[in-house]
Amino acid sequence: MKVRTRFAPSPTGFLHVGGLRTALYNYIFAKKNNGEFILRIEDTDQKRLVKDAISKISNSLYNFDIIFDEGPSVNEKYGPYKQSDRLNIYKKYYTQLISNDSAYLCYVDENQNLIPEKNINNSLDLIENNNNFNQKFVIKFRIPKDNQFKTYDKLRGEIVFDLNLIDDPIIIKSDGFPTYHFANVIDDHLMKISHVIRGEEWLPSLPKHILLYQSFNWSIPQFIHLPLLLNPDKSKLSKRQGDVDTDAFLDKGYLKEAIINFIALLGWHPNNNNEIFDYEELIAKFSIKRIQKSGAIFDIKKLDWMNAQYIKKLNIEELINISADFINTDLDISDKSKLIKVFTFIKDRINTLSDITALLIPFYENINIVNQDILDNINDKISQDIIKYWYKGLLLIDTIDKESIDTFIQQTSKKFNVSGKRIFFPIRAVLYGKFQGPDLYTLISILGIKESTKRLKKYI
Ligand code: GLU
Repeated sequence: MKVRTRFAPSPTGFLHVGGLRTALYNYIFAKKNNGEFILRIEDTDQKRLVKDAISKISNSLYNFDIIFDEGPSVNEKYGPYKQSDRLNIYKKYYTQLISNDSAYLCYVDENQNLIPEKNINNSLDLIENNNNFNQKFVIKFRIPKDNQFKTYDKLRGEIVFDLNLIDDPIIIKSDGFPTYHFANVIDDHLMKISHVIRGEEWLPSLPKHILLYQSFNWSIPQFIHLPLLLNPDKSKLSKRQGDVDTDAFLDKGYLKEAIINFIALLGWHPNNNNEIFDYEELIAKFSIKRIQKSGAIFDIKKLDWMNAQYIKKLNIEELINISADFINTDLDISDKSKLIKVFTFIKDRINTLSDITALLIPFYENINIVNQDILDNINDKISQDIIKYWYKGLLLIDTIDKESIDTFIQQTSKKFNVSGKRIFFPIRAVLYGKFQGPDLYTLISILGIKESTKRLKKYI
């Protein structure tokens, strides 16, 4: 059987990390099996729709190279792919359920409360004459009374439900729209979905879905419910936009490759300890068998680490190119060879591209030492003399190389009878604004003699 998977978001806002993981697993599983990946928009809850959400979600998928083979306006083989455009299709199926008594109409009052014990006899006529239900009735699906109803999830095996605990669900609302349960099953069947890979929060709905399949005599797809995403303290992952909006991670300077790698590991691991892999390897290694059942911790520190690994893999030119939007435009970075030296220094020191400007500033802006602690610590006579000595000494050096700077450090050491930090700290403070930072050779070679002596002079 052809593998066909789908991502079926409700257009209620941005694509969050949980959604991206679901989309990613569906996508790589389809690609791995030469199958097809489908985007279907589940917009049956008209009250929760958010403007532009559909284009936001599909753009986000595109940003992460998750390309759907079928979807709204894309190869609509079994379309439409937006549920609100499929109301006519659903009608055929709920009519069928009513005819064989698997579903029934139920009156609602003006506040949408069900009127108990008042099911309707001439249901089919009512539906025929009422395209829009005018808020008078809903359609409910009859759940049989079985206390040992068996379902099957590919990760968890057999799961038995007591159907006595499940109320008959509404499948068509009083506005004539289907509910999620109904539309989801009809569409998965009509769109020939072979594997339903979705979040664990849908597991309790599984018996309703399976019963619907059975009442139509349809074959049942494989179900895979992905583990919950948790915060490091094991609480349920927050839904706050800034924390879980996938595009916001791109805006913060995480690379899409790193995000995908990180998301892939939220609930799945390859059969070795390797944690860094690209799409191709991911597709090659992915298997449903290795998806875990227990909750997956969303640890932003791990994403930082992973992003840093991806940044380290880039060459300097690539890093400079992708950093363009993250560099504060006030900095004059027009000197290309200086920029390359600066990036060579900072490359191993950044987690995200948004760290870059802060690391660039000491090389491009005038240094004003504002930190009183630093000022106090270089205020002694020896530090002051060393600073003056370096100012004069650097003026005499015409080409900077490691050897000449090392020699100069040794001379300073002999002359003032000090070593190490007693030399590095005052010079670095004046040239770089901080005690910690690049070694003096790297620092001076980035700044150049002219800028270095200018900074020393200004301080003096
Ligand atoms: N519309 C549902 C959601 O937004 C889809 C769940 C499913 O994949 O069945 O999560």
